[in-house]
Amino acid sequence: MNPIRIPSMKITGVTVYVTRIPVLIKRRHGSGDIEGTVQNAILKLETDAGISGWGDAAPWAVFTGTIEANAAALNVYLRPILLGADPTRIEQLLDKANHAIVGHPEAKAAMEMALFDIVGQASGLPVAELLGGRCCDDLPLSFSVADPDFDRDMEMVQRLYAEGLRLFKMKTGFAGHAADLKRMERFRKEIPADAELRIDYNQGMAAYDAIRQLRDVEAFHPTFIEQPVPGHQRAALAEITRALDTPILADESVFTTTDALAVASQRIADMVSVKIMKHGGMMAGRKVSAICEAAGLACYGGDMFETGIAHLAGTHMIAATPNISLGCEFYQATYFLERDLLAEPFPVRNGRVIVPTAPGLGIKVDEDRVRHYAVETLR
Ligand code: MG
Repeated sequence: MNPIRIPSMKITGVTVYVTRIPVLIKRRHGSGDIEGTVQNAILKLETDAGISGWGDAAPWAVFTGTIEANAAALNVYLRPILLGADPTRIEQLLDKANHAIVGHPEAKAAMEMALFDIVGQASGLPVAELLGGRCCDDLPLSFSVADPDFDRDMEMVQRLYAEGLRLFKMKTGFAGHAADLKRMERFRKEIPADAELRIDYNQGMAAYDAIRQLRDVEAFHPTFIEQPVPGHQRAALAEITRALDTPILADESVFTTTDALAVASQRIADMVSVKIMKHGGMMAGRKVSAICEAAGLACYGGDMFETGIAHLAGTHMIAATPNISLGCEFYQATYFLERDLLAEPFPVRNGRVIVPTAPGLGIKVDEDRVRHYAVETLR
């Protein structure tokens, strides 16, 4: 037996690139719109062993946080924790980060994935193996039907169905109940029945009339209905969960493990969306999933407007976490961004995301492209 030997390493460089990448399609949600560009804080950690690791913080101001705050979290508050540190001490460094700055889970997720990327490359192991080992080699991919131009969206759905994709999540709650029902009806009429329709309100529904409206939605047999009411309205969400036959999925209601404990123990929802950008990394996402699993709640692999770097971290996490069983929504690198930041395309085949087998995150970053999209560089 060959024990894995990791060279002793120190972090010698911390660079934060604030990128602005044009996007190909518009997105509308109950909580707000995305068009034009997305902004990410891309983290590069360098070591004295010659190994570099990459992270991606993908905040959304109306959901998790702002790009300005997350760039500052990495540059001002996390930089002194990382410089000179041993990158293998991931839990210890995250603990220090949590004591240095509250919140900012996107910055902490970026830091964690860059550390895992380094340790994976140093040990020769993919991140999924560092987390306990993969339980699958690919994941079903979900595409979000969120274009205000529904004709264009339906063309996209047809194209993706032909490519093998079977999970479609329709964003609702921004154009009125009648318009939502029309879109669902058209989807069910035009797309073969083996396509799963999932519905996500992104908090866009008023709680007082939610149950009656959601009973109309149930006629289209969605797999689940996600976050109909605002995240903090937990009593209303619990009432909806009890009233409907369709499973209810909590997203904006669950950021922390404490949130997960409340939702799981009081059965406020039937399912939870796990996102590294909400929870602050892969290990935090696995803790949320474990709490849900104890109460019989299944988890979904959600994401924010990420580059392929964060998609890779999410892919490794889900592959190593059987209770995140409802697929993943890592479509942005392939179908949303003008160009992703990975040197090779984020691996999607036949509607499934392939879990990388190379060490670390598994696909190199194209640093020239990061610099091309950078509007600010902090080092
Ligand atoms: Mg959601």
